[in-house]
Amino acid sequence: MFVYADNAATTCVSRAALDAMLPYLLEDYGNPSSLYAFGQKAQEALQEARETVAKCIGATPREIYFTSGGSEADNQAIVSAARVGARHGKKHLISTKFEHHAVLHTLKKLEKEGFEVTLLDVHADGVVRLEDVEGAIRPDTCLVTVMFANNEIGTIQPIREIGALCRERGIPFHTDAVQAAGHMPIDVVEMNIDMLSMSGHKFHAPKGVGVLYAKRNMPLVNIIEGGAQERGKRAGTENVAGIVALAAALKESCEHMEENTAKILPMRDKLFAELSKIPHSKINGSLEHHVPGTVNMCFEGIEGESLLLLLDREGICASSGSACTSGSLDPSHVLLSIGLPHEVAHGSLRLSIGEYNSMDEIDHIIEVVPKVVAYLRSISPVWDELEKGTRPHLI
Ligand SMILES: *Cc1c(COP(=O)(O)O)cnc(C)c1O
Repeated sequence: MFVYADNAATTCVSRAALDAMLPYLLEDYGNPSSLYAFGQKAQEALQEARETVAKCIGATPREIYFTSGGSEADNQAIVSAARVGARHGKKHLISTKFEHHAVLHTLKKLEKEGFEVTLLDVHADGVVRLEDVEGAIRPDTCLVTVMFANNEIGTIQPIREIGALCRERGIPFHTDAVQAAGHMPIDVVEMNIDMLSMSGHKFHAPKGVGVLYAKRNMPLVNIIEGGAQERGKRAGTENVAGIVALAAALKESCEHMEENTAKILPMRDKLFAELSKIPHSKINGSLEHHVPGTVNMCFEGIEGESLLLLLDREGICASSGSACTSGSLDPSHVLLSIGLPHEVAHGSLRLSIGEYNSMDEIDHIIEVVPKVVAYLRSISPVWDELEKGTRPHLI
């Protein structure tokens, strides 16, 4: 059996998204900047996609900028706030320790340029505290950026409250909503969000297309220079087919959100319930504030990478840490940020399921994971020490 359980890494393209994009590849392939009617057809498709996306998050079409993905949207939001802040002598940014690298590495780059960055703790439950955000705010703070939902442990942050706090103080607030868009309701007005990033391939659109929402009057600085596309804020001929697919996929996901969640939750709960029976295992991140499909657990005495390889042999696609860090031997910065010791964080498994998964697939995972964990422990020198009591159990 083949089971794709890595939907937080990427998703399949939905039929609706594919059907929506094909005409713009095969027939109406004009350049939206061309003045003739054939080009204008593509321009109209872009406008329609902009309206659809805006509607899904409570924004207006003029506040939607299409990008090459979530990473670009994060980069542009953060760099824009920093450049504008610097013009007013404000060079302090606030974020959290467990952001995606698209955010963390952008902040690191700014730090090297002389900006100051405060990375907030996310506590053992994987949720940042409002008091901590409030306590970090300074007169020279030019941006607060906190992710909507974490990509590894699935915890949801108090976005509306952080937004309200920032709004009160006149500080721009950005959220990386890549793991939330299409999976949870988002209303940028009600949630006091000034800038928000999305990525199509996390909700059944193709890879390489994303959205930056920027509230009216929120100044944006170009990351890509060139033509006047996206109202002069993002140069480059638009990825018309990808953008059309993104809009179709987002609309479909938003329209079926309740139904999808109702399908995913019992599968996720069964995974948690059954895999928790494995001795010396631990669920990572509070289940109280959680996206529907993400399951992250640690199993003591094993290496996450070995677990993944053996699961792959059984047809199960899963992950350990984020795709960006796999290949390196460092444990996930997210798991370390919630206070897990290195040796525990090494034995992590992320299963991220979606509406395309079935209960039969969940049963396959539940059958395979305990066996593989038991096998890896049987050959693990660390587990041997844990069992003998010469090394203390940490979970
Ligand atoms: C996937 C992801 C990104 C990056 O999006 P791309 O479109 O792949 O560049 C950024 N942030 C989070 C939270 C993600 O999960």
